Amino acid sequence: MQEKELEVIKNAIRTIPNFPKPGIEFKDITTLLNDATAYNLLINHLANRYKDYNLDYIAGIDARGFIFGAALAAKLNIGFVPIRKKGKLPYTTVSEKYALEYGYDEVEIHIDAFKKENARVLLIDDLLATGGTAQAASNLIKKVGANCVEVCFIIELTFLEGAKKLEVPVYSIIKEG
Ligand code: AMP
Repeated sequence: MQEKELEVIKNAIRTIPNFPKPGIEFKDITTLLNDATAYNLLINHLANRYKDYNLDYIAGIDARGFIFGAALAAKLNIGFVPIRKKGKLPYTTVSEKYALEYGYDEVEIHIDAFKKENARVLLIDDLLATGGTAQAASNLIKKVGANCVEVCFIIELTFLEGAKKLEVPVYSIIKEG
């Protein structure tokens, strides 16, 4: 991506200090979604990167991963699969627990999410922090018989070293350290 285009995307993301709790700098992508130029640049950039990956599906992580993932899937003319927080998916699910700073969280996928055997899947979320959510989501993709070929983020918080935790290749548009 050209430096100028990257700047447009970076500038469209707003940082909210101390949300949802003191000490967290929350990256608010709603301002990017609001900005048609920046949102289009982003989706076109991803479509261009992934057009030759022979992907069968995009899987998005609840909830902001849906916004980018569904737009990208439509653009690439492939299916979209939601990976949701526990208790939201109506059909039979497979689940994966992962550790948070305090306690646990759990994500789920439909058991029949990928109709094709050994499907090639791109996983997407808005932000990589510690990597726990994305690793759990990629485990789910494997558990239901598909292959997570890469995980893609709009923003990576490099100081948290989440990429080291991930067992799949990582692509981040913006790296913030
Ligand atoms: P983690 O599992 O620690 O990598 O956390 C990633 C998930 O938490 C993603 O779904 C993000 O949307 C969300 N998240 C974590 N930290 C932030 C942050 N500073 N700003 C916005 N979202 C965040």
